[in-house]
This record gives sequence, C-alpha cells and structure tokens, in this order.
Amino acid sequence: MAKKLRFNSATIHGGQQPDKAYGSVMPPIYQTSTYAQTTPGEHQGYEYSRTHNPTRTALERSIASIENAKHGLAFASGMAAMDTVLKLFKPGDEIISTDDLYGGSYRLMTQIFDKYGLKIHFVNMEKPDTVTQFLNDKTRLIWVETPTNPMMKVVDIQAIAALGKAHNALVAVDNTFASPYLQQPLDLGADIVLHSATKYLAGHSDTVLGLLVVNDDALQEKLAFIQNSGGGVPGPMDCFLTLRGIKTLHLRMQRHCENGAAVAIYLQHHPKIEKVYWPGLVDHPNHEVAKKQMNAFGGMLSFVPRGGDLQTSMSIVENLKLFILAESLGGVESLAGHPASMTHASIPKAVREKSGVVDGLIRLSVGIEDVQDLIEDLDQAIA
Ligand SMILES: *Cc1c(COP(=O)(O)O)cnc(C)c1O
Repeated sequence: MAKKLRFNSATIHGGQQPDKAYGSVMPPIYQTSTYAQTTPGEHQGYEYSRTHNPTRTALERSIASIENAKHGLAFASGMAAMDTVLKLFKPGDEIISTDDLYGGSYRLMTQIFDKYGLKIHFVNMEKPDTVTQFLNDKTRLIWVETPTNPMMKVVDIQAIAALGKAHNALVAVDNTFASPYLQQPLDLGADIVLHSATKYLAGHSDTVLGLLVVNDDALQEKLAFIQNSGGGVPGPMDCFLTLRGIKTLHLRMQRHCENGAAVAIYLQHHPKIEKVYWPGLVDHPNHEVAKKQMNAFGGMLSFVPRGGDLQTSMSIVENLKLFILAESLGGVESLAGHPASMTHASIPKAVREKSGVVDGLIRLSVGIEDVQDLIEDLDQAIA
C-alpha cells in the first residue's frame, strides 16, 4: 500500500500510475468500445466499455482518492449519477430531501421517480431536527445538498448522517458546490457522495460528467450493477478532461474562495444591495456549521438588489460585461445567473419562493480572474 497522500498531492497523483504499455504519464484516452480476448473469457480486466474503460477507471480512482473513499463511479452527467442512486429503491420507499436544491435534481425526483412510486419529502434541513419528523420505517435515503443552490444554506452533514444511521437510512450528499477541497462528506458519516464534475472538478466549463463515491463494498456493487445495466456512462475523452481538471482543483479552489470572499464583502457594503448569501459572512445564519464542516467558504454566492424586483435584477445581469450570463458554475470564468428564470425555472414559483428564490435573486459563480476586474464589472452593472 502506498503512503496516503495529502490533499494537494492526491489531486495530482491519487490512485494514478504511469500507463503500463508505454509509461505514458497522463492516462491515455482509451477510445475503444471493446477489448481483445486471448481465449473466450480470457482478458486483461476489460471486456466492453459500458462496463469498464481504463480512462474511466483512472478517473474513478482519482475521485475516490480525493474524497477519502474506497470506490468511485463515473457517469455521463451528474443527473445520470443521481438517477443511478434513486434506482436503488422500490415503490413505496421514502426519501427525505433538502428543499432548496439543484433544479434538475428536483425535477428528477418529482417528475420521474415520483411516477415509479418513490415518496419524496422536501425539508428545510438547516435545523436537523426538522428531518426527524419525516423519518419512518419506510425512509431509505436522506438526500443532502450543501451549500444549497442557490440560497447557500449549509446543512450539518454530521448531524444528518447520525439520524440516517439511527434509522437505517442511507445518507447521500451532493458535494458539487463545495468540492472535496472544501468538505469530505464520507468522513462526516455520509454513505454516498455525488458530484456534478461538470462544475468545479472538471473546472473549465468544457465537459459534462457525474461522479459517485462510496466506502461500502455491497453498495458499490449495487451501484455498478445499475450503472452497467442502464449505461449512463461517460466517454473516455470526458474522463480525461475531468482528470486533467482535478489536477489543479486545489489551486483553482483557493482562488475561487479568495475572490468569493472579496465579492461577498463588496456586495455586503453596497448601498443598493439588500441581501448577500455567502456562508463565509459572519451574519450568515449557518456560518457556524459552515466553519465546522468546510475548510473555506467557496466561490458561489447569491444576492438580492434593494427592492428585489425582477426588472432591477434583469438589468444588472444584462449589463454585466465580464461575468457571463449563463447556467452552470465552477469554471475558471465568472458566471452570473438568474435562478428564477434559468436554473430554477422547472420549480413552481410558490415552491421556489418558499425557499427564498425570489424573482430578484442573482447567483454568481465567482471565477479566478483578477478580483478587481470582477468588482469593477459588478460596480458598473449595479450603477
Ligand atoms: C449541475 C448540478 C447537478 C447536475 O449535474 P449535471 O452534470 O449537469 O448533470 C447536480 N447538482 C448540482 C448541485 C449541480 O450544480
């Protein structure tokens, strides 16, 4: 067994070794669907690329290494990964989910899996005790997203994991917003971690990919069975791009966090801004939990201009010149979004507003540019 690497080294070397064929330092892009067998059933561990592919294996080992996990599984997208998790369950099973969550996750649960008989309760998890009210002997999964999207609520993973353990329910954490640089949910007691690697892990807005990590061998086998049966797997090129992204995760995240802090403080002091949601602010309602479970506070934040009306927010996002108006997040470039009309349009207005996603809300994914350029851009757009 090799020595366990520290995080920054693991992003570069974790689970990796030079390729056996020619010593290639970077994992080759094995663009192949099938593998030669010497006699029927005799092969070198690979038969067909829906089941396994060496570039995908390299990525699965890499993510396992930086999440302190035993197993990693890669998928065509974050949603394909979540789809696989939800297929562990059967009609009648119940799930308790964070209420303020990624719009696509909400859609998958309410418009696809609802039809197959899964009963899903959406709960504000800022106070873990609230979850207790919904736990019963049919509860199979607690789905946590933290920090939440787009309200930046922080859920106490350790407290929820303890509830899950006590009630024999699995606990899954969507770790997309934090990335393993900021928090490692398995170490806090979670059973499954999901990533939309499309965001911080790949990090360059150039690929769509999903990942899961788990420690339990039986759970890994079940997930791999569904993965291979359903086939929502990534191609080797996307695995390669994600592996390349992970190598600089620690450097990018450090700058995302610094720039996120500077932008949050700038907005907090701006007379035309009413509210700023960033877990690093001491007056953020979950700041203490964030301090406990995260290494820093990330580059995602949301804010509401004074008055909070649709018109003002629309004109701010339209007047931004350096921030690009686009869905998604976690890339090197700064993006601005208007959740009510973009990422969260699939959530009914009443449900949306109950969790704080008002029409005036603007979400920023603060990139790694010179922060003064970002602040000047916001300044002219808000003016
Ligand atoms: C983007 C995102 C997803 C979905 O991932 P895809 O790769 O787009 O399928 C899930 N959860 C969160 C928090 C996300 O931001």
